[in-house]
Amino acid sequence: MYLVKTPKFIQNLFPNYISKVQETEKVLYLTFDDGPIPEVTPWVLDQLEAYNAKATFFCVGENVEKHKSIYKQLKEFGHAVANHTYNHLNGWVEDNATYFVNVRKCAALVKSDIFRPPYGKLKRKQAQFLQRHYKIVMWDVLSGDFDPKITNEECLNNVLEHAKPGSIIVFHDSLKASKKLKYTLPKVLKHYSDLGYTFQKFDGNSLQLPKQNYKIA
Ligand SMILES: [Zn+2]
Repeated sequence: MYLVKTPKFIQNLFPNYISKVQETEKVLYLTFDDGPIPEVTPWVLDQLEAYNAKATFFCVGENVEKHKSIYKQLKEFGHAVANHTYNHLNGWVEDNATYFVNVRKCAALVKSDIFRPPYGKLKRKQAQFLQRHYKIVMWDVLSGDFDPKITNEECLNNVLEHAKPGSIIVFHDSLKASKKLKYTLPKVLKHYSDLGYTFQKFDGNSLQLPKQNYKIA
């Protein structure tokens, strides 16, 4: 069970996570998790290039290690890369030390100050620690491309029905998601380009960090 649209009250519970960018302009932030892999990532790069779109790739360290040349291409094409742990760990399951070592192992390959926890799952202490080193970027629209129970059309509608200016949209450059991604991504790029949107990556300047207003237990 997951939510396609992250409700406002959840976004407010985690004020230090970035799940949407305050935008008045027609800008969308496309994000791709779990790559890079040869079967999907180069195809994504071609699609983005056709629309002059920039995106942010949340890379799994072990895939970067295996597919260094594709990883290099992400940067050559002008996209942003970000840390998604080395082995795609679930923060709710792993102890903190194991989790932090895994993030650091990814950081040795992926130079970035942006982090997204796999499954969106972090324990409070993990979040507090990581926020000292990273901007934690979540999302407000989940395409559901990874979900075998939905159709191509439902995946596309998840995006079209929920994306707004400043939305952070999650896709996956993974084998599991490739069928729905290959259906949905070109249509999303075309639809929003026709409406006058641009697609931007995250960088230090585009991230408006919320105020540090949580209490440390
Ligand atoms: Zn992931």
